[in-house]
Amino acid sequence: MRIGQGFDIHRFADDDRPLVLAGVRIAGERGLQGHSDADAIAHAVSDALLGAAGLGDIGQHFPDTDPQWKDADSMHILRQVVAKVIAAGWHVANVDVNVICERPKIAPHRDAMQANLGAVVGAPVNVKGRRAEGLGSIGRAEGIACLAVVLLTA
Ligand code: MG
Repeated sequence: MRIGQGFDIHRFADDDRPLVLAGVRIAGERGLQGHSDADAIAHAVSDALLGAAGLGDIGQHFPDTDPQWKDADSMHILRQVVAKVIAAGWHVANVDVNVICERPKIAPHRDAMQANLGAVVGAPVNVKGRRAEGLGSIGRAEGIACLAVVLLTA
């Protein structure tokens, strides 16, 4: 067995790009700034998977200097990460995710997020949302942070 953790954080964008989390487009909310679609959940899960498999990190595989990943669908990046992990001889056992933000509320989107992520990783995925209680940059609603833990089995 191998365990991996992933972390990601993105600030809210000033333009009108859509908010996408775990592949779910959430209407009426500010989008996140980033080279790709800035899907912080997909990025954190990708990093946890790469870490668990000893395959480095998302920046090595999908550099934000590469125009190929400009506005990229991060669920597509996650799909490629899962393929790398499976090619290295691992199976995903489960994924647990914590999304930390003042908004949007995660609970109404939890089932869709879990379904999207589960379909890509092929394992049970649990998504939890929590607020930062007004503390720090996340508490001031300047962005969204995400933590992910993944277990792999041989
Ligand atoms: Mg990111």
